[in-house]
Amino acid sequence: MHQLSPSPIDLATALEQFEEKVPPPLQWRTWPAEPAAAAVVDPDGPLLKGQKASLTDRLVVSLGVGAVGGRAAVQLVRLGIGCQVVVDPDRFGDFSWKTQVCEPGHAGQVKAWVIGDMMHRVHPGTRIHAGFGMAQDVPLTLLRKADVLLAAGDNIEMLVWLGNVAAALGKPLLQGAVYGERLTAIVRAYDLRDAASACPGCALNSRAWGGLKARKGCDAARDIRNGEPTRTTPHLCSLAGDLLTGEALKWLDGREAQALKSEQLDYCMVNHKAYRTQLTRSEACRCPHERWQWQDLPTGVADAPLGEVVARALGAEARHNPLLQVRAEASWCAKARCWRCGRVSEVARFARPGTEVGRCACGQALRAAAAGAPSLVPAADLNVAFAKPLRDLGLDDGASLGLSEGNGWTYLALPGDPLTAGQR
Ligand SMILES: [Zn+2]
Ligand SMILES: [Zn+2]
Repeated sequence: MHQLSPSPIDLATALEQFEEKVPPPLQWRTWPAEPAAAAVVDPDGPLLKGQKASLTDRLVVSLGVGAVGGRAAVQLVRLGIGCQVVVDPDRFGDFSWKTQVCEPGHAGQVKAWVIGDMMHRVHPGTRIHAGFGMAQDVPLTLLRKADVLLAAGDNIEMLVWLGNVAAALGKPLLQGAVYGERLTAIVRAYDLRDAASACPGCALNSRAWGGLKARKGCDAARDIRNGEPTRTTPHLCSLAGDLLTGEALKWLDGREAQALKSEQLDYCMVNHKAYRTQLTRSEACRCPHERWQWQDLPTGVADAPLGEVVARALGAEARHNPLLQVRAEASWCAKARCWRCGRVSEVARFARPGTEVGRCACGQALRAAAAGAPSLVPAADLNVAFAKPLRDLGLDDGASLGLSEGNGWTYLALPGDPLTAGQR
């Protein structure tokens, strides 16, 4: 049957709808521009009172750099952390200056980049990677290197995802938050070095699981946009950020024995009382609470076919095991439909939605479809995938590949820097 070409207006509408569904990829900025410059600038200087060790070899990942997380990130840079990764999907709004680490002139600018630049100016010896985009797109190999994971803010969906990752990687996860109505600053410490400990998902009831998209927080601008102003005061936000910094420091300089572990701290500014409560593991939690095994793959592995890599990692029989599951960080793209002529082409690779995945016979660029695609390779596509080199499957420098035979996940880390992989 002859397929009618869509009119230009249909095409524009389709593109617009597509772009709305696909969050833009994570964009990185790095300070200082040349890696060697960090070592040259150094002077880390003397240890501060209360600081037990030099932190030049530590890596902290902070997800969310608003009023709480931005404060913590800038405080941590003063303590001489060797490398910090800060990620936030938002821009500053017209009234962000009221609560956040910014000025009115920063309205409209990317939060992560403004904070990253400020951190660099405070301590040029620290290496800083600032990402504008979704935390869920931060490469696993980067999270795996972190000594501590920090989360601040308001995105419960992100926090539950991060809890899964912290458990899978065996990391402590610290969250800073505020409860404005009660003038209370909050720190939650999830000791997910043990995957069986309480995770952020353990606190959710079945209704909360259904409403994971809900957001609230202390950015005046965003809350007004969402019709839910909390307008938390700046001193409460910065207190939460400072308490978060203090807990992070214990993990970073070898005093984790003193740190909050699977505990929540509430500091109330009304009555100046502090409350420590245990965070409990819920049997009803929907998170897997599962630690992954890791294997580091050798240089040059990107040219090896997947089947060979699987056999090397799990044994020769693994690729014939009907329980074998293969997944990556990006979704699996089996096919792509051309917008211009409607033709469907085989793709069979991992690709972030919106990524160009080849050309249609008509010449039009093909892009991986939007949300909804699974990251698991469907059983029917496994043999095709086994025959392809990792590179042709979309697995670039620093990418991770997950394998399971039904008894937990083994992750394979490709060598290389994931932050420069996307820029080629
Ligand atoms: Zn849980
Ligand atoms: Zn076409």
